[in-house]
Amino acid sequence: EAKKSLNFIEQMIEKDLKEGKHDSIVTRFPPEPNGYLHIGHAKSICLNFGLAEKYGGICNLRFDDTNPEKEETEYVDSIKSNIKWLGYDWEDREYYASDYFEQLYEMAIKLIKKGSAYVDDLPQEEFNKLKGTPTQPGKPSPYRDRSVDENVDLFERMRSGEFGNGEKVLRAKIDLSSPNMHMRDPILYRIKQLPHHRTGYQWCIYPTYDFAHGQSDSIENVTHSLCTLEFEVHRPLYEWLIKELEIFPSKQTEFARLNLSYTIVSKRKLRELVELGHVNGWDDPRMPTLSGIRRRGFTPASIRKFADTIGVARRDGITDIAVLEHAVREDLNANTNRVFGIMNPLKVIITNWPEDKVEMMTGVNNPGDESAGTREMPFTREIYVDQADFMEDPPSPKKWYRLGPDREVRLKFGYIIKCTGYKKAEDGTIEELYAEYDPQTRSGQDTSGKKVKGTLGWVSVPHAVNVEVREYDRLFMTENLNTIEDDFKNHLNPDSLTINKKAVVEPSLKDAKVGDQMQFERIGYFRVDEDSTEDNLVFNRTITLRDNWAK
Ligand code: ATP
Ligand code: MG
Ligand code: MG
Repeated sequence: EAKKSLNFIEQMIEKDLKEGKHDSIVTRFPPEPNGYLHIGHAKSICLNFGLAEKYGGICNLRFDDTNPEKEETEYVDSIKSNIKWLGYDWEDREYYASDYFEQLYEMAIKLIKKGSAYVDDLPQEEFNKLKGTPTQPGKPSPYRDRSVDENVDLFERMRSGEFGNGEKVLRAKIDLSSPNMHMRDPILYRIKQLPHHRTGYQWCIYPTYDFAHGQSDSIENVTHSLCTLEFEVHRPLYEWLIKELEIFPSKQTEFARLNLSYTIVSKRKLRELVELGHVNGWDDPRMPTLSGIRRRGFTPASIRKFADTIGVARRDGITDIAVLEHAVREDLNANTNRVFGIMNPLKVIITNWPEDKVEMMTGVNNPGDESAGTREMPFTREIYVDQADFMEDPPSPKKWYRLGPDREVRLKFGYIIKCTGYKKAEDGTIEELYAEYDPQTRSGQDTSGKKVKGTLGWVSVPHAVNVEVREYDRLFMTENLNTIEDDFKNHLNPDSLTINKKAVVEPSLKDAKVGDQMQFERIGYFRVDEDSTEDNLVFNRTITLRDNWAK
């Protein structure tokens, strides 16, 4: 395999290790437990855990749970199970920013004592008026020059619950004329009289993202703190806090977030789809959440491969969803068995086949993998093919290899049959076909010398298993949802789910288990869904064999 050139983060890490800046690296994946992880997070997971693996370092899982409003334990659990499913292991390094609340508080006191932070009583709107613009310096809050003692006293009283929401904040005292607005006395703590999913009523002041994130990195001795580009403007503050507090110098580096065509990667918007009922929950197989695509049948290996293929860059862009779909197809092609599934069954009566005769045929499970073995399938007088495999008045045999009056096809692993007639209902639908088989043409023992181009899948009628197939299409009709100006929900694809209750599959699937994955020959890849019951197997169509979107 050709050696892939190093991306800019790998180059930086190799330089740091070579120069002895660190003996080994520590990264972290820092989700906020306010929703389910999506495919964008997978990029960050693969990056952080992947780098730790590659360079023999460690990657921590840290819940960035400093905002009590939207966070829940349900999300913590789903995040952990998603990461494990992707194949990564944080071992015992499961951390919570909320576990650092006491240390963070002590750090805030330290800043106050250095004269680098102050308690501000100014309402947010008033502060914003004073704050200025990037080209115009701000004016100080009248509370900016409070004494250290007064600030310590007020901050302690903020903690003890003496003040209501929004009455006071703690601000860093930095630079009101900085061109970077994040350096104009940013908020470090705010009052929120709200219980937290882990600390309960212990706290009523909560640190902001800026105050919690870098310090948590530092507490954990994170060497390389990787985040998405929108945090680039926060980096001077990240570095200022580390310097003022004289703590371990974690280094923040930004990379481009994943944007995927026909998809949204924003927990907030995905939540909207769930709450408004546009999808059936966070794990709906149409959702770009890891729980959704897992249920749909995307595999961990394909997602890791995808992350590797797209790499990391310093500039935002949009990745074609076809890249992800390609990775999924490749993995499933190599690793799933072929079976026969018929989406729109059409009965064929083989009139020269004896009434009760059953002959077992041998099907090859995976032509690319001999170790996948074979299976036996009953062949009988009545079989199903697909409605799409027959045309009453087909074009020339060069353009139509399937069935039509007097046309011959091979039933894969079975016999060659010739269509001798058909029955049509009043509304024009074809009800059944009649055919004759050629006894000389049994697959593997063909002595007829016949050559036919078409090969069809089939299922014996008395042995067929009726199943439900959920056929998914893209959730959105618009390629780039980042550039739209109206509500993203206007772009939902109304036909993203089609429920097919007519489908049948071959009898080897009778005992299929939830999570089993297979290829229905010539149709696509499927996965047995969690909604399956003893008498109703439900199959999710993971993806069609070829991209049929670009019509
Ligand atoms: P969202 O906007 O969907 O809520 P977020 O960035 O707020 O995403 P977090 O839980 O804070 O979600 O993210 C955890 C980690 O995953 C962060 O390091 C974040 O930068 C990264 N991440 C989130 N979305 C993407 C994405 N689309 N591409 C790459 N990394 C991402
Ligand atoms: Mg975030
Ligand atoms: Mg967010």
